[in-house]
Amino acid sequence: MADAAVKTKRETTTAQGIDANAAKAEQELTDGFHLVIEALKLNGLNTIYGVPGIPITDFGRMAQAEGMRVISFRHEQNAGNAAAIAGFLTKKPGICLTVSAPGFLNGLTALANATTNCFPMILISGSSEREIVDLQQGDYEELDQLAIAKPLCTAAFRVLHAADIGIGVARAIRAAVSGRPGGVYLDLPAKLFSQVMDAEAGAKSLVKVIDPAPAQLPAPAAVKRALDVLKGAKRPLIILGKGAAYAQADDQIRALVEKSGIPFLPMSMAKGLLPDTHPQCAGAARSTVLKDSDVVMLIGARLNWLLSHGKGKNWGEPGSKKFIQVDIEPKEMDSNVEIVAPLVGDIGSCVSALLEGIDGKWPAPPADWTNAVKTKKEENIAKMAPKLMKNSAPMDFHGALGVLRTVIKERPDAILVNEGANTLDLARGVIDMYQPRKRLDVGTWGIMGIGMGFAVAAAVETGKPVLAVEGDSAFGFSGMEVETICRYKLPVCIVIFNNNGIYRGTDVNPTGGPDVATTVFVKGSRYDKMMEACGGVGVHVTTPDELKRAVDAAMDSGKPTLINAVIDPAAGSESGRIGNLNPQSKIRKK
Ligand code: ADP
Ligand code: MG
Repeated sequence: MADAAVKTKRETTTAQGIDANAAKAEQELTDGFHLVIEALKLNGLNTIYGVPGIPITDFGRMAQAEGMRVISFRHEQNAGNAAAIAGFLTKKPGICLTVSAPGFLNGLTALANATTNCFPMILISGSSEREIVDLQQGDYEELDQLAIAKPLCTAAFRVLHAADIGIGVARAIRAAVSGRPGGVYLDLPAKLFSQVMDAEAGAKSLVKVIDPAPAQLPAPAAVKRALDVLKGAKRPLIILGKGAAYAQADDQIRALVEKSGIPFLPMSMAKGLLPDTHPQCAGAARSTVLKDSDVVMLIGARLNWLLSHGKGKNWGEPGSKKFIQVDIEPKEMDSNVEIVAPLVGDIGSCVSALLEGIDGKWPAPPADWTNAVKTKKEENIAKMAPKLMKNSAPMDFHGALGVLRTVIKERPDAILVNEGANTLDLARGVIDMYQPRKRLDVGTWGIMGIGMGFAVAAAVETGKPVLAVEGDSAFGFSGMEVETICRYKLPVCIVIFNNNGIYRGTDVNPTGGPDVATTVFVKGSRYDKMMEACGGVGVHVTTPDELKRAVDAAMDSGKPTLINAVIDPAAGSESGRIGNLNPQSKIRKK
């Protein structure tokens, strides 16, 4: 750090002789720029996702010069999504860097999404001067960013003095990764960056955070309660959520599932924690196990809308269910229904504690239950199989997904990014995952726009090939980042399921007027040309066979590739599988 610090040589000789400060003949100085960079590096945070501009342009340059990886995006939302998923993949907060006001607001969507999904990230935004902002005197990009960020993240901090940078970064890291992970906002006013202080004092002010996410051990009585409930079950079920994937307690979770013999259901981003082809996986019998189970143990999964809030017809008769919940957040318990055995702690510790009680004498779940699950599962898999083999042109979703399913089977360490409506819902069911944290998708909010940000970070953080399966509409939210993918030469293969519009490409304007319907796009757009324009490989395919060949070539070469896959415009359904959430008017004017 010393050689990079600002060095000023003070004139020490005056007409009167030696300056009073002769002892400090040469004072080494540092500044806010360097201190922020050093604080991040000291804590193993070596990658920044961001968009340069005032007042953080030079910060990005200097971070790169100091050996950090600085990935510049075309829009802050994508940089933010990249940081968020980097946090999910690594258990360290992903760093997103933005300019003030509009750049900050663009990044905020990703910060809020990270918080909702329990992904650790830190949004660092430059901001305007407090004195002017607080008096509302109209500064360049004036905005009270801290106040705006607060309700949308786990914690928000502002640093005004260079000497506090070390503590500010330490607080941000702890807030992001300890307890329930989430998004943190760090506000750095422009003036802070050039604030100068003594280099030695600066170095001393930095904090290397010790044990940033301390283990949280469950109480023994809570473990016993959970085991007692589980032991009494006739039709037990384990639901694994993305919290379980995040925890990286893969071996313990596998041991718990296998030693207990209980069927498990992975939530979308927990797929692959144990392979979807595992004999105990109940993914293909989802409705049956939700409805008919009597005891459900949730591990890092919330009873939110994605699980129908743990009640209603999907869950069978009212009162037919007992819930055990393993979660680091005590306030999550009873959020939707009663939890009879709350187990609060980190998943690694909780699952290890449960395992101690699941020894050789643990009773296997009743065979009529495991057999019923197995039968239902085989039935559904058999029903699906012929649909996946259809080699038609234009393709339908199943025909196209059938080959992508084979791609992931053949390349289980590739990372699958997935968004869209039908493209998402169908891919989730069709494409089996084999390894933990390989499926990255729209998460808790079900939002569109995560695609290219997630794809970039997945490639940067893991070095593995990435397959991004995108609806044509979903892709549009982050599509300009194909340039970013080409610029950094990332091994990303994007497949666009192009059905000419949102849900379907067949809607018509009821008035017969010149505008097309609200949900349709230009027919036959060639998204592959966008990739070619940036120097990547573009391929246009109309059959599953062509699709398979193109994806294989992309994955083999590792070259940025975009495959425009023509899907029958009539093939999709409204809102994919969640059409019930899209209210439709029963009153139409004639
Ligand atoms: P899914 O959507 O896959 O069901 P959710 O995001 O709803 O998953 O739930 C994830 C849960 O995991 C959250 O309640 C969160 O508090 C919890 N969680 C995250 N990390 C950990 C951890 N290391 N240990 C325990 N619980 C965790
Ligand atoms: Mg579409």
